[in-house]
Amino acid sequence: MTPVAETEEHKALRSAVSALGKRYGRGYLATVVAEGRHPTELWAEAAKLGYLGVNLPEEYGGGGGGIAELSIVLEELGAAGCPLLMLVVSPAICGTVIARFGTAEQKRQWLPGLADGTRTMAFGITEPDAGSNSHRITTTARRDGTDWVLSGRKVFISGVDIADATLIVGRAEDARTGKLKPCLFVVPRETPGFERRPIDMELSSAEKQFELTLDEVRLPADALVGDEDAGLLQLFAGLNPERVMTAAFAIGMGRYAISRAVEYARDRTVWKQPIGAHQAIAHPLAQAHIDLELARLMMQKAAFLYDSGDDIAAGEAANMAKYAAGEACVRAVDQAVHTLGGNGLTREFGLASLITAARVSRIAPVSREMVLNYVSHQSLGLPKSY
Ligand SMILES: Cc1cc2nc3c(=O)[nH]c(=O)nc-3n(C[C@H](O)[C@H](O)[C@H](O)COP(=O)(O)OP(=O)(O)OC[C@H]3O[C@@H](n4cnc5c(N)ncnc54)[C@H](O)[C@@H]3O)c2cc1C
Repeated sequence: MTPVAETEEHKALRSAVSALGKRYGRGYLATVVAEGRHPTELWAEAAKLGYLGVNLPEEYGGGGGGIAELSIVLEELGAAGCPLLMLVVSPAICGTVIARFGTAEQKRQWLPGLADGTRTMAFGITEPDAGSNSHRITTTARRDGTDWVLSGRKVFISGVDIADATLIVGRAEDARTGKLKPCLFVVPRETPGFERRPIDMELSSAEKQFELTLDEVRLPADALVGDEDAGLLQLFAGLNPERVMTAAFAIGMGRYAISRAVEYARDRTVWKQPIGAHQAIAHPLAQAHIDLELARLMMQKAAFLYDSGDDIAAGEAANMAKYAAGEACVRAVDQAVHTLGGNGLTREFGLASLITAARVSRIAPVSREMVLNYVSHQSLGLPKSY
């Protein structure tokens, strides 16, 4: 049964992470972004407290929990105004894929560092000419003796500059059918031929996005994660946690925005009562709060299904959770900015930059329309237009 109420352990984790987040808060993140740094202090402290690797196996230094716990960590840091985007890729996608499918050596090499936060891994699937159509990716991997040689391009890949390696989704030729099948490769940051160029994003974020070129990148045989013939299964094992974590990111941001708006609406008085007494201000905030709570329920369902090993059911729920959270976040931020009137657009109140940030959860890692397509085809059985 999917639990609808949180366990005592989850409540305790939520309140402990929330306390950490509040000690850093929005001011800390704003300073880090303004100085062009990374939130290394918060990352290190969250790591020391065991939060970054809470989903990874205990035998490799993790907390032995699942995506349910990791999503609580990200949501609460976000609700305090200081989310760590790399949680979505490093422990959630890369950590999960390696823990579930990596060889014993890959687990030994990567999991302890991903769990204690001393190592980070980025994730690269998006390509300029494929976008939402990941069947169209052309980054290819060919064998050369025991080595692999990768060539291709990627775009919008987050955190490649701070990550020790990037988990790259490529395609290798199937010896039997000659068709190209997806395969995952660990590409260390400084590998010759692996070039990155920062993209000039209109985003106020510590983590940067990069365009990558893989020009005959030579990798040893053990750069291939897991089984060459089970790449698709392995990929989906990483993409569901990514959707759940993006939902957590969105819900945290939405909650942060609403909390700032409520604080403001309680005080700001331009007639007889504070503006929060006007239903035109109060009701949209109440609606946004309800939408965020509903999105969280779906996120918890998706995390529960995933952690119980039901990858198929988790797929539908994770897509729906990402959709619901992204939409709730965009609406919450919009209403929060509006509540502050002109102050909603000042740097001092710091909400306007969330307008762009909130849109990320509508676009990535899978756009609103692609989730609606998924539900139309997979859940409702409607025909495809593409
Ligand atoms: C801040 C940020 C960080 C990111 N980080 C990463 C990362 O770390 N790793 C990574 O691999 N990727 C990353 N991405 C990429 C992200 O996953 C893609 O932007 C996303 O998958 C959409 O692809 P696209 O941008 O090519 O849009 P496109 O696929 O070109 O889509 C453009 C528009 O067309 C719509 N559309 C496309 N096809 C259809 C259809 N069949 N029916 C209806 N509408 C359709 C889309 O919904 C969208 O609105 C990041 C993106 C951003 C913005």
